[in-house]
Amino acid sequence: MEESRIRPVEYDYLGYRRQIEALCRAYGSLQSYVIGRSAAGRDLWALRVGRASEYVLFAAAFHGSERITCSLLLRFLEELCEALQTDGEIAGLRARNAMFGRGLLVVPLVNPDGCEIALRGSIACGRQAPEFARLCRGDFRHWNANLRGVDLNHNFDAGWQALRERERAAGIYGPGPTRFGGFRPESEPETVALTRLCWNGRIRHVVAFHTQGEVIYWTAGEKQPARAAKMAEILATASGYALDVPVGLAEGGGFKDWFIETFDRPGFTVEVGRGENPLPASDLPALYDRLREMLMLAVIL
Ligand SMILES: [Zn+2]
Repeated sequence: MEESRIRPVEYDYLGYRRQIEALCRAYGSLQSYVIGRSAAGRDLWALRVGRASEYVLFAAAFHGSERITCSLLLRFLEELCEALQTDGEIAGLRARNAMFGRGLLVVPLVNPDGCEIALRGSIACGRQAPEFARLCRGDFRHWNANLRGVDLNHNFDAGWQALRERERAAGIYGPGPTRFGGFRPESEPETVALTRLCWNGRIRHVVAFHTQGEVIYWTAGEKQPARAAKMAEILATASGYALDVPVGLAEGGGFKDWFIETFDRPGFTVEVGRGENPLPASDLPALYDRLREMLMLAVIL
């Protein structure tokens, strides 16, 4: 394989757009389309590999300081498309066999505004710059919310009210850098784009990528869809990550929670890497090496 087109230093919105365009030019098996626009009007992309009656959905970069997960999924798409083109393998699994009758959808950058803010600060906010400056209090690097100060992974309509009460108990009443779930569930354009994608297509299961902790979450309250436990075990074994159950402000409101509750199908949150957010771009090669087998299995299962 030639040198990768995914350059982890090209971390911003335009850099990602260039990388996606380069991948689509290189691989006929890959198609990109726009599923919505962020609060600041940036495109929300979906990338599709294969045509099938059922798709597996990967989504990443829900949180501004977690943009490395976008690079991780683009890197995987590149290797998958290359393997499909050359009849190659990934982690010993033949890509053409793995994708037989199976499609993969990837939304690599769920929160483009938040990622741009965590990289650049108020310059990424346009006319909302003064409001943003008030909310972030000088620390833009750890910004996780979207442009409007809503944490997208608290904004899905799954246990939202109970989560809202826990947010209040933790002193979170309104827009801010992290963990405010919005004034109502699915109030944000990024949340709506993702739920609409799930309603429109037949999605077999979803995997949401975040950073910190090397753990996999697979339950939503009492809900445990058929085959979810077995799949969780396989993903944990392949990655060496631990299985865990979310508690407190990590419980409810998230994409995987909403997907499990709405469709009674498996959904997973994978917390990649360890250290401090944002993880440095230099972590990408090691993260990818560790997770490529798990990513491939998450397509096949
Ligand atoms: Zn996150």
